[in-house]
Amino acid sequence: MEQYMIYKNLGISREVYEAGERLEQELMPRFLEFDKNAEFNQLKVLHAMQKNRVSDGCFQYATGYGYNDTGRDTLEQVYADTFHTESALVRPQITCGTHALSLALSANLRPGDELLSPAGKPYDTLEEVIGIRSSKGSLAEYGVTYRQVDLKEDGYFDYPAIERSLNEKTKLVTIQRSKGYQVRPSYSVEKIGELIAFVKRIKPDIICMVDNCYGEFVETIEPSDVGADMVVGSLIKNPGGGLAPIGGYVAGREDLIENCGYRLTSPGLGREVGASLGVMQSFYQGFFLAPVVVSSALKGAVFASNIYERLGYGVVPNGSESRHDIIQAVELKTAEGVIAFCKGVQAAAPVDSFVTPEPWAMPGYDSDVIMAAGAFVQGSSIELSADGPIKPPYAVYFQGGLTWPSAKLGILKSLQYLSDAGLVSKEQIQKI
Ligand SMILES: *Cc1c(COP(=O)(O)O)cnc(C)c1O
Repeated sequence: MEQYMIYKNLGISREVYEAGERLEQELMPRFLEFDKNAEFNQLKVLHAMQKNRVSDGCFQYATGYGYNDTGRDTLEQVYADTFHTESALVRPQITCGTHALSLALSANLRPGDELLSPAGKPYDTLEEVIGIRSSKGSLAEYGVTYRQVDLKEDGYFDYPAIERSLNEKTKLVTIQRSKGYQVRPSYSVEKIGELIAFVKRIKPDIICMVDNCYGEFVETIEPSDVGADMVVGSLIKNPGGGLAPIGGYVAGREDLIENCGYRLTSPGLGREVGASLGVMQSFYQGFFLAPVVVSSALKGAVFASNIYERLGYGVVPNGSESRHDIIQAVELKTAEGVIAFCKGVQAAAPVDSFVTPEPWAMPGYDSDVIMAAGAFVQGSSIELSADGPIKPPYAVYFQGGLTWPSAKLGILKSLQYLSDAGLVSKEQIQKI
């Protein structure tokens, strides 16, 4: 059967299909780079698994207190060896990325300490963790103060201002690798390393924490390879490989991770308790798959960027830039564009493809938001997903894709929906 027929069955027109084929051919050298990166990271993970003698026994079920949960303890060593850190805490009891970040901060800050963000505003949900927006249980309530150095015009670090902000109270510095929903570049691990080195030259004992969400396995090195004392992330993003149904991690210096253990469970108990409840196989297998899953997501991001750039939309990053996370922003100029894009992504999903997403008011947002997610794990954003606030510049944030062919279909579907809505012409598509 001609390949187009299978696309036709999925509602893709001939011109959209052909544009996709042409572009895919053109992007092959880029894709090969992602494959080589995945190869390196795959071997890194595999080596860590072999070194720690991962066995069938590691997938056994522990319940109750979870003492001697060897599957859990071994997995933590696998993470530590992959990230080249002394220790790691990888638990289903860490409910999400925000929780992992909150844990790492609250475990290692004490009343009177100051937290510094030298790279501008942190991720939205951290505003309440820190107390930038007043909130119950925030660090501010516990007497931890906060200081922030805004980014320069070009989106990079204002070193003289950072130097002025470091003082005798500054205990911990937080750096976010991915841009999240901001208009600034995502940072390369190298750039993060320069910032850490600068801060440590001025104050050697400062703790440097990196919010690693969406960044894991995008490069061959991680922030922990360039001086970060803690790296933190979510298992329903990159390192869970799409299989972990819940969880978060903190990897880093032994004393800091020990503190995280005492904060997560209880002083005196620490990492000794916390049963893994049967999720261990998905954690191991997801981590094993993660490097290749991340490369699929990167291919999807670059494919989308090139399509929409050629159609005249603003894209961040652009079609040829190097990648430092898996997020792709596309400015669709109109509400109709955002809605069509998200409906297309939803229609390409393996789960809930028959559901039509609609914009709605969400807590914490000042405009309606539309979200497309047809995921095996609810809210998982390593799976193909897109969301966009219905307000200028009508940007959609698109990420994930467990396999490249499914990511490709999602993007082609988004284009098909824009075309069907009359927002993009056949002639434009033929010029991609
Ligand atoms: C997703 C994300 C978080 C928060 O993670 P949740 O799992 O949504 O709580 C924090 N920082 C960045 C950069 C993220 O992308």
